[in-house]
Amino acid sequence: MIWTKSRESGYARLPFSMRVFRFLVVLLIFEVCLAAQAPRVPRKPAVTPVDSTHPNIILITLDTTRADRMGFLGSKRGLTPNLDAMARQGVAFTRAYAHVPITTASHTTILTGTYPQFNRVNDFGIPLSARLPYLPDLLRAQGYHTGAFVGSLILDPLDGTAPGFDRGFEVYDAGFHLRRHGMDRYKSVERRADDVVNHALAWLSQLPNGPFFLWVHLYDAHDPYDPPAPFRARFAAQPYDGEIAYADSAVGKLLDEIRKHGLYDETLIAVMADHGESLGAHGENTHGIFLYDETLHVPLLFKLPASHAAGKRVDARVRLVDVAPTILQEAGLPVPKEMQGESLSAMMRMRPKVGPHGGGATETGAVETGAAEGDRSAYAETDYPHRAFGWSSLRALRSGKYLYIRAPERELYNQSLDPEAAHNLAGGAKAVADTIASQLDDFRSRTSQTLVELAQPDAEQIQKLQALGYVGSSAGAARDGEKLIGVDPKTKIEVSNLLHDAMFDVEDARYQEAIPLLKRVLAEEPNMPVANMQYGMAQARLKNYAEAIPPLQKASQLLPDNGMGRYELGLALFETGDWKGAAPQFEAAVARAPKWADAQFSLAAVYARIDRVPEAMEHLDTCLGLSPDHYRANLLRGRLLSLLGRALDALPNLQTAAAVEPDSREAHLFLADAYGQLGRSAEEAAERARAEKAKAPAAR
Ligand SMILES: [Zn+2]
Repeated sequence: MIWTKSRESGYARLPFSMRVFRFLVVLLIFEVCLAAQAPRVPRKPAVTPVDSTHPNIILITLDTTRADRMGFLGSKRGLTPNLDAMARQGVAFTRAYAHVPITTASHTTILTGTYPQFNRVNDFGIPLSARLPYLPDLLRAQGYHTGAFVGSLILDPLDGTAPGFDRGFEVYDAGFHLRRHGMDRYKSVERRADDVVNHALAWLSQLPNGPFFLWVHLYDAHDPYDPPAPFRARFAAQPYDGEIAYADSAVGKLLDEIRKHGLYDETLIAVMADHGESLGAHGENTHGIFLYDETLHVPLLFKLPASHAAGKRVDARVRLVDVAPTILQEAGLPVPKEMQGESLSAMMRMRPKVGPHGGGATETGAVETGAAEGDRSAYAETDYPHRAFGWSSLRALRSGKYLYIRAPERELYNQSLDPEAAHNLAGGAKAVADTIASQLDDFRSRTSQTLVELAQPDAEQIQKLQALGYVGSSAGAARDGEKLIGVDPKTKIEVSNLLHDAMFDVEDARYQEAIPLLKRVLAEEPNMPVANMQYGMAQARLKNYAEAIPPLQKASQLLPDNGMGRYELGLALFETGDWKGAAPQFEAAVARAPKWADAQFSLAAVYARIDRVPEAMEHLDTCLGLSPDHYRANLLRGRLLSLLGRALDALPNLQTAAAVEPDSREAHLFLADAYGQLGRSAEEAAERARAEKAKAPAAR
């Protein structure tokens, strides 16, 4: 920190770009650190008069939650008393299926009512096209107040993982950041269900009149399985179950508050999981690779206004793509023709059939409908094995009693006889497999081609992406056949488990533990994009840039449209002084996720270094527009203005930086410099004194 010691150090005499550079090196060290979000205290929700034609709507998505853990779906584990109570007042779907076992992709399907092959959000960081129908946007346009409260970094529209998800939301409460060593997981990459619910209640408490759409996303059941007390002790042997019981308790708190304020009866509430969890089934530990029931059979529950159809169970197979059209129809609003799901309203309102013994009530007090009547074919896919691993993607169709999986070695299961998908019939039942395979092809060609344009970036954006080294639009939407070749994921599932453990270590800042695991993966699969990226990230965090850059470059070549990979490469290049190499990487990250404040900052930082100061200022303005309290952006903008001789203009940014990070020596020293330029010597002296007291940044 040579330049911060005193003005006599010679720093002020360095060329402008050199001074900026030295300063930036320190700033980038804190690249992955943003201020943790301050907890807010909920106030009591105000009573909102309800317009009966447009009910309030609450959408609750439970991440990574298996259907077989729900009491209302027959589980005897006793994990979900609150959801079970809601099921008695609502309609439970016993056979609901997700389309993709990946969080952002599945939520896209839930919120757009479109299939992944149509909306093209098949991975983290893929922008949600503004041309897709989007439930919050549609409801906002009808006068709904709209709020999203999510539990994980991977649904944060401002960090590069879920760009475009904030469309139509008046409030999108996220604010996550990558975790550095020693940071609390639940104040960085995710937060507990109680925090999410408290934030949602605080928002409800200050809403003006008019119907609201509230989306609450509870990430708890996602690994690591680490429920808080008292669930931790109660479920010490089954921590996954403990997370589900904890999430259920948070749902109970939310619904209790809604009830207390007289809103429950008239509110439409929809609860579902985005996907399940394998827990070792078929050799998969978590989710993302396979398309079996463990990860795709999900809970789905609607509580209609006035508890209409209370206690009903629907046994027909339905899909998460049907959720958005159902919500719109129940809200009395038109369903856009681009939505590909079909409303479940008629199914929910169908009169129950009387069972063979007259009443038809089940042990949970629910009423049975006819079994499997009205089954809908359920399509599923995962591109994760292809994009992350370079293996074959998988496609599946549940049709009639069969589950068919398209893979290098295709699979066919009779789900009524073999619900665990243990006996692959594809070899012996070739005709059935061929028939469903052609249904699958037909379905995909009907659902992906017709409105392709809708999901494509516009011409200008395509040009911009191509200029940045992204693959062109046609290659970007790689032909399906190209994704369906290579390693069959079921032959290498243990490699994906190993990689998952390594990624978890990287996320938790345990880089030394991650590196040997990643070396083992790369020894077997040297061209695996995500393993190269994670290895590069781990080495970069340990400042081994020479080790970090080649794998990061390889990952970016293998997966050029992954903004996060490009961003990580940019950081590593910058740290080694290759700022001209870093610039296009940050440009690529920004093009992919324009609302990613840290990427905007990094691009500004590199532009400042290569004497593109006006562009640096533009990106700093964008960054501060997205994140007004961004410490490093305020510090850099203030410093640049100060170095340009505009000390008066620099003051607000430098004052903000000093307020956000009161222990920052730089902020106080730069403020002192600015006051010095302005001849305000008393304030200059005060800031120098504060700088002396402030800890060095490395000690923070
Ligand atoms: Zn998920």
